[in-house]
Amino acid sequence: MTNEIRVATFAGPGARPEIRTVPWPEVPKKAALVRIACCGVCGTDLHILKGHWPKPLPWPFTLGHELSGEIVEIGPELTRDWPGEPLHVGARVMLPPLMPCHACDWCNRYPEQANKCPNPVYYGRYLGFEKPPHLWGGFAEYVYVDLDMLPGTKIYRVPDDMPHRLASLSEPLTSCIRAFERARRAGGFPWGATVVVQGTGPIGILAIAAAQEMGAGRVIAVGAPEKPRLELARRFGADATVDIERHATPEARIAAVREIVGGWGADLVIDCSGHPSAGPEGLEFLRDGGTYVEMGQFTDAGAITTSWHRICAKDVTILGSWGFTANDLPLGIRMLDLARDRYPWYAMQTLFPFGEEGLAEAIDAAMAMRTVKSTVVIAEDLCRE
Ligand SMILES: [Zn+2]
Repeated sequence: MTNEIRVATFAGPGARPEIRTVPWPEVPKKAALVRIACCGVCGTDLHILKGHWPKPLPWPFTLGHELSGEIVEIGPELTRDWPGEPLHVGARVMLPPLMPCHACDWCNRYPEQANKCPNPVYYGRYLGFEKPPHLWGGFAEYVYVDLDMLPGTKIYRVPDDMPHRLASLSEPLTSCIRAFERARRAGGFPWGATVVVQGTGPIGILAIAAAQEMGAGRVIAVGAPEKPRLELARRFGADATVDIERHATPEARIAAVREIVGGWGADLVIDCSGHPSAGPEGLEFLRDGGTYVEMGQFTDAGAITTSWHRICAKDVTILGSWGFTANDLPLGIRMLDLARDRYPWYAMQTLFPFGEEGLAEAIDAAMAMRTVKSTVVIAEDLCRE
């Protein structure tokens, strides 16, 4: 075992990786040193290297967060992973980035949206490795965590017989599972649903698998290029693929998807692409009443409007509502009846007599916003009560 650890750092956006060394660390009582087997390159890493990250970053630092490895040293008081499985030297683990602190008011109030914790934990950051290079990224031989210093740090055992290459996909796959679970809770992902996945990068491909495992009927993938991405999408079980390079306009893509999906349109569309026009055209893949999940506009880079990015980044639920159904009307009648004395309903209404002049005035007043609810009295005797 050497006493120096090789880590890759980047000096800033656009920089090439630079291999540097960090001394072998002490491993205190609630810390662990993990030897990294492999680490995927995430779209987030690429965004960061393109300078798309909206917040300042502690350059130079070590990127990479889709890692799987095994524990080589562990303190005596670090005995369990986050779900409660025992940890020991030799155990295989994955370490996700940006974990909720689970100590703040936000995390306590909104545990299901603790992904938006304002004080997320990024491995061993701020932990005695203040001076770069650090030991807290995946493009390195080892990663260090210390739960005494950062109790929010999360460690997850992976099965002893799970290959590290498979385990390194657990972090990006989880983001797809959560997106579909959000759709399910919104009532938008029924069993057998027809799902369109926008984007055939790593998240899009993983979303194709997650959709099927979670009960989708058919999955259609929209992306490019044919090799290697669309071909792989079909190997992952996509029923059909639409090549956005061959269908170069939103109109052409909408027509192509609608033809494949057939019927009224897709039940669920999920944007995994971050493509600027994904949102507006993805809406048109949907049937009326369908559900759209925006997980691709992870940064605001290149977005046609920042609002599509904000939908993703704020983890919000946006609902459309058009008119009402036949079954809703009794609710309106009943509410007015029960609440007739609780609101100044009649103060909404400005009355106009029926006739050419009265009706014209009622409409003019409404158009000019002089009235709230111009109301034409047609049978005065019936309106006296
Ligand atoms: Zn928190």
